[in-house]
Amino acid sequence: MTSTHRPLPIAIIGGGFSGLMAAEQLLRALPVDRPVLLCEGSRPFGLGLAYATPNPDHLLNLRASQMSADPERPEDFADWLACTPLDAAERQGIRETEAGTFAARGLYGRYLAERWDRVAAGAGDRLIPLRAAICDVEPVPEGFRLHGAGAPPRLVAGLVLAMGNLPGPALAPGRHRLDPWHPEAFGTLDPARDVLVIGTGLTMMDSVAALRREGFAGRIVAVSRRGLLPKPHAAVPAGRRPDFTPEIRGSARKLVAAIRRAITTAREAGDDWRGVIDALRPITDALWAGLPRAEQARILRHVRPYWDVHRHRTAPPAAEAIAAEIRSGGLVVRAGRILAIAEAPDGAVVTLRPRGTDGRERIAVQGILDATGFSRLAETDDPLIRNLLARGLVRPGPFGLGIAASPGGRVAGASHDAPIWAFGPMLRGVVWECIAVPDIRDAARPLARAVADQLGDRLAA
Ligand SMILES: Cc1cc2nc3c(=O)[nH]c(=O)nc-3n(C[C@H](O)[C@H](O)[C@H](O)COP(=O)(O)OP(=O)(O)OC[C@H]3O[C@@H](n4cnc5c(N)ncnc54)[C@H](O)[C@@H]3O)c2cc1C
Repeated sequence: MTSTHRPLPIAIIGGGFSGLMAAEQLLRALPVDRPVLLCEGSRPFGLGLAYATPNPDHLLNLRASQMSADPERPEDFADWLACTPLDAAERQGIRETEAGTFAARGLYGRYLAERWDRVAAGAGDRLIPLRAAICDVEPVPEGFRLHGAGAPPRLVAGLVLAMGNLPGPALAPGRHRLDPWHPEAFGTLDPARDVLVIGTGLTMMDSVAALRREGFAGRIVAVSRRGLLPKPHAAVPAGRRPDFTPEIRGSARKLVAAIRRAITTAREAGDDWRGVIDALRPITDALWAGLPRAEQARILRHVRPYWDVHRHRTAPPAAEAIAAEIRSGGLVVRAGRILAIAEAPDGAVVTLRPRGTDGRERIAVQGILDATGFSRLAETDDPLIRNLLARGLVRPGPFGLGIAASPGGRVAGASHDAPIWAFGPMLRGVVWECIAVPDIRDAARPLARAVADQLGDRLAA
C-alpha cells in the first residue's frame, strides 16, 4: 500500500553513457523514496551508440586513463583494465602505444555494463529500467505522461533527455544507403566498385574499420568540405595555457590568432601543438560562452572543423590504419561539396564540387555511408524530438544545435516551468564541451543537484 504514496519517478530518456551517469547521480541526490526511471529503446543499458560495437578495431579516442566513469576515481577504467580477467580476444583490444593505452570501445562497453549491474543492484527498486523507445511526452498536472512503443503509458514528475547525438536525415533514404551501425551488410559489397563515406572525421574512421572487418576489399572514397582527418594522440605533457585579454576573448579572429601564436611559441621551444590545445580545455566552455553570438557563428563556420580534428584526436593505431589505407589507395580522401546524389539501378551517382574549384565531378558508387555524425534539432526525424518540438516543450539550441537550455541543462521550451533537462551531447550549442566521457561524467552531479533542487527534494549535501 505504501507504494501508492511513493513520489513519481524522474525519467531519464536514453540509457547510454549519459543516461547511466545521470541515473547514478540522481539516485544519490534525490531522497530515497524518489525513483528513477531509465528508458532505453534498443541497446543494453549503459552502453549507448558508442560502446556497443564488437569490432576490436573501433578504439576509444581517449586514453584509458581519461575514460573513468567514476567521478571520484580518475583511474577507475585503467584499474579495471589492469585487474579484470580478460580472454585472449579482449586482450587484443588493448593497444599499448607511446601516447598511452587505448582500449577497444567494446571493452569499455563491458566495463560500463558491469557498472550498470552494480548501480542497478545497489539501487534496488528505486531504479526502474524501462525497455522502450519513448515516442511522446504529454504534459499533465503531475508532470508528464510518457508514451513508448510496447510499454504502457507512465506518469513521471520530470524528464532528463539523454538521447545522445541525434540521428538525422542527412542522406535521403535509398537502396544505396549503408548504415554504419549495422555493418553486417558490408560483407556482400562488390570489391570492384567504390563505396562513398560522407564525412572524414572519427565516424568515417569507424566506417572504414567496419567495412574492412566485414571483408569489403574495394576502394572507399571519403568526402568532406575540407577533407580534414583527425590528428593522432602523442605523448605530450600539457602545455602552458595562453593568457587571453578581454579584447581577445571577444573576437573569434583574435582568439584564433592568439592560439596560433601560442602554438608557434610552443614549437619554437621544441614543444608540441597538442600541449597548447589540451591546456585550453579547462577554459573552452568559458571562452565559448563569452563570445558574442556573431563571433560564435564565425567559430562554427570557419574554425570548428579545424578545432575538432586537433581537439578530438584519435588513437594512434586507428590513425595508422587510415594512413596505411591512404598509402595503398584503398581510401581516397576528397575535399569538396556534394551537390547531388542520384539514385542509379546499382547504386548512386554522386556529383561533387572539389574544394577550391567550380568544376563538377561525378562518382559512381555502390553504396553510401553517412558519417557526418549528428544533425540539427529541427532536421532530425527522431519521433520523440519531433513531438517535443510540436508540443513546444523544447526548441532548437543556439545555431540549431541540440536543445535550447541553460548551461546547467534546464530546457528552455515554450512552457518555462516544465521540469525538463537536457544532458550530454544534447546540450551542444549551449555548452562547448559536453560530448566526451570526462565532460558527461563530471556534469552529471550538478545536473542531479539541479533536478533535486527544482523538485524541492534535494538531500543535504
Ligand atoms: C562512434 C562514437 C565513438 C565515440 N568514442 C568516444 C570515446 O572514445 N571517448 C569519449 O570520451 N567519447 C566518445 N564518443 C562521444 C560520446 O558522445 C560519449 O562518450 C557518450 O557515449 C555519449 O553518450 P549518450 O548516452 O549521450 O549518447 P548515446 O551513446 O547515443 O546513447 C543514447 C541512448 O539513448 C537511446 N535513445 C535515444 N532515443 C530514445 C528514446 N526516444 N527512447 C528511449 N531510448 C532512446 C539510444 O538507444 C541510445 O542507447 C563517441 C561517440 C560516438 C558516436
